[in-house]
Amino acid sequence: MKINRRDSLRLLGAGTLGILAGPLRGNTAKASHMVTLSFDDGFEKSSIKTAEIYEKYGLSACINVIATGHLGGSDDEYQDWPMGDFSLWNELKKRGHEIMPHSYRHAKLTKMPLKEAEGLVQKCMDVFDKELDGYASDASVYNCAYNASSPELEAWLKTKFRAIRTGWGHFNPLPHEGQFRLTCSLNGPDNIDKPLLKAVDEFLEGPSGWMIYNAHGLDEEGWGPMSSVFLDELLGRLKEIDHVRVLPVIPALDSV
Ligand SMILES: [Zn+2]
Repeated sequence: MKINRRDSLRLLGAGTLGILAGPLRGNTAKASHMVTLSFDDGFEKSSIKTAEIYEKYGLSACINVIATGHLGGSDDEYQDWPMGDFSLWNELKKRGHEIMPHSYRHAKLTKMPLKEAEGLVQKCMDVFDKELDGYASDASVYNCAYNASSPELEAWLKTKFRAIRTGWGHFNPLPHEGQFRLTCSLNGPDNIDKPLLKAVDEFLEGPSGWMIYNAHGLDEEGWGPMSSVFLDELLGRLKEIDHVRVLPVIPALDSV
């Protein structure tokens, strides 16, 4: 099922909120379009705000964090903002948000020998095992730093994780049994409101599928930030569309 051009414009244009309003459908009906905004890096202020905006709509956010981010573990210039720590991640997880690994120290794993890359992922898993309540790698999605992976690394990750998020392209088939390799797109380093809006619009006009879009911080934080006002409005509008679901990765995979 797809929505027509007119509905799509109603959704994403600057029209009055509530045009598409109707009784909210539960999760019983099958969605034709799923949308996951996959927020990376774990900026403290942005993550708190992101969770609050999702909660406003009764939705769960998808937040992917660097195991040593709060210890200054990454030297990426776009991560020079205060990062959340595991007390925050545990709190957000308890509130129903998805907190997933996004590397040990944000190294590009395709730029090193395979064994070294595997060692860094293992260190990341060890931190999550120790610090994140209820964490299990084989029930989790590993979000590759820079969405960089190789076939060899992916084969190893498949022995550890339920799924991975890597590059490139935000169109994925709807969740199905055995789905492991998820791809995403992104934009940056400037504000991403416009390119994300365009991508959502085109996705909703196309065939059934699962859009996974890699976002980062809100407002001023991180590479390719999104405006918090825009996120609020986008979620509000997406939630009103009958055949669209906004879900984190694991609940999406569980919806099969
Ligand atoms: Zn990142």
